[in-house]
Amino acid sequence: MLRAKMSIATLGGTLSMQRTTPGAGITPVLGGEALLASTPALKELADVHVESLSLLPSASMDFDFLLTVLSWAKRQVAQGAQGVVITQGTDTLEETATFFEYLWDLDQPLVLTGAMRGADQPGADGRANVLDACRVALSEDSAKRGVLVVMNAEIHQALTVRKTHSLALQAFASPNVGPAGMIIEHRVHFSRPAAARKTVPWPVRTTQKVALLEAVLSADTTLVEQLVPLGYEGLVIAGFGAGHVSEQWSTVLEPIAAQMPIIVSTRCGAGSTASDTYGFKGGEIDLINKGLHMGGCLCPRKARILLWLLIGSDSAHELSRFV
Ligand code: GLU
Repeated sequence: MLRAKMSIATLGGTLSMQRTTPGAGITPVLGGEALLASTPALKELADVHVESLSLLPSASMDFDFLLTVLSWAKRQVAQGAQGVVITQGTDTLEETATFFEYLWDLDQPLVLTGAMRGADQPGADGRANVLDACRVALSEDSAKRGVLVVMNAEIHQALTVRKTHSLALQAFASPNVGPAGMIIEHRVHFSRPAAARKTVPWPVRTTQKVALLEAVLSADTTLVEQLVPLGYEGLVIAGFGAGHVSEQWSTVLEPIAAQMPIIVSTRCGAGSTASDTYGFKGGEIDLINKGLHMGGCLCPRKARILLWLLIGSDSAHELSRFV
């Protein structure tokens, strides 16, 4: 019988980390071959091809590198992989997943996973997460769902998943919608059907700078005023409540909105921005009238990825199709 083919790329993160010197902290040292050797059950699932693409803590990955990872993943599918799994650090997993989601235009699943405990720590979760991610990548039910994140036996969609705990095993959640599915006794269960997806064209440039600023109490306007002179081409604001800023920021943002796209998301961590509730200066109605876009349920850091990709593919005029 023909065996299913799948590919795994390892990028680093806690899943690949262990102590190399007694008493020192853990660092990324284990690549794909080590993962395969320590997880023999992987070979029982499918014909698995593993490659180590980096050994980085995830905070140090950048968008250019992510584009090379995505090209690699697309090549794997072109060569017959039924699904692709990428392992990386969890600190930026929600951003990477969003980046890939907007560019992944294939029906095959691209599944991201990581670990909250280093490979040599008691109760390390990395191998269980990788096995679950592979099961999801190989499941027929995962087709047309885009990029998925599998952690702690839960399946999350890329645009909703967030890291909501710094160290706990149960570190990921999808506020507003919950997980898209679970892995129960090694079987993949989705709790809702695949939904329509929107992708962005591949970036034609990667030098654009998009700022993310959080609205905080009694903030001055200096950084906001410096965005244009510093060469920023887009701005995301993690706004108060339903997408609000101070009166002072509202005044300063008006001329900037004429020069660059601005998205206001909510800094709350759950819920959506409003569109026609609040009438005060700095409220969403005022900001929309000044040309700013409301981020809806898209969290600020995901909105920044969207804006960066749209600007990089000369598609910023399409922003209102997405938020
Ligand atoms: N907690 C992170 C991880 O799970 C730390 C390092 C990283 O993000 O690469 O991998």
